[in-house]
Amino acid sequence: MTEELFREDATLLHCEATVLAVDESGVVLDRTVFYPLGGGQAGDTGTLTSAAGAVLAIADTRKHKERPGAIAHVPAPGADLGAFVVGTRVTARVDEARRLAHRRFHTATHLLCALVPHPVDGCSITAGYARLDFHMAEPLDKEALTAGIARLVAAAAPVKHRWISEDELDANPGLVRSMSVQPPRGLGRIRVLEIEGIDLQPCGGTHVANTAEIGAVVVTKIEKKSAMTRRVVLGFAERHRAPTKKPAEAGLSLAAEARLLVAERVVAGLAGAGGVAERRLELVEVVGLGGGDELDRVVLQLLGAFVELGALGPDVGLR
Ligand SMILES: [Zn+2]
Repeated sequence: MTEELFREDATLLHCEATVLAVDESGVVLDRTVFYPLGGGQAGDTGTLTSAAGAVLAIADTRKHKERPGAIAHVPAPGADLGAFVVGTRVTARVDEARRLAHRRFHTATHLLCALVPHPVDGCSITAGYARLDFHMAEPLDKEALTAGIARLVAAAAPVKHRWISEDELDANPGLVRSMSVQPPRGLGRIRVLEIEGIDLQPCGGTHVANTAEIGAVVVTKIEKKSAMTRRVVLGFAERHRAPTKKPAEAGLSLAAEARLLVAERVVAGLAGAGGVAERRLELVEVVGLGGGDELDRVVLQLLGAFVELGALGPDVGLR
């Protein structure tokens, strides 16, 4: 059994813990800040550091398949687990940028639930995007949904969780009716997530504490997946990294940063041109994920597309 610290405090980034087991699923701790894949939300990544200073990179987090209630910290491929035997004291630390992205996107998907009054068929929350599938036949409007999210973000509504028992639910049919997603049964107690005055639903995920913390999230795509499924994809409208961070700290080479600045100037000069907003989103998503070769590829693609559009002005400074 792993104590799930992330359920009570999504801002907690590290904790001290003891290794309970190590097997093919990964490392099991007595307590953790790592969220395991579930409820549509991706698992956390990060590191385990032993008291002696050995560091183990964690590439994913899963609910342990054989041990009910245990959480498996999945080591990165080829990682050396030699220093992490049963009984080892460790500091468990989650990747901060990834956690923040998950928190912002997850709360944003609940805002979408409030804006689209239809049942949810599927959900995926990652650091780069989030998507929700609604069971509905009517078309959805991208701009209207983006504006709706912005309005609820600007409302700065508090976000809180609480635990309720099935007995309480049974005694309050009105509470169940008011939920945008129906609560699961047979678990004893249920964690519900309330966005004050906006949305209430059962959820175990990590969230921001106030909708204002979601920041600039936009609908990047609406797809008709089937006659009765409309998929809404969300992206960040700005870079994930803090503006004060230096490029090197964000994992960007100076050359990549320079190319990015040029590309952004191009995009800024092209407001209103077809497809540009989407390309810019692609760009910032990649930058948010760390940059490197992937960034270079997208920047070159972006610039290539602009050349095709005949949109590169004389002042772009690409020569
Ligand atoms: Zn949720």
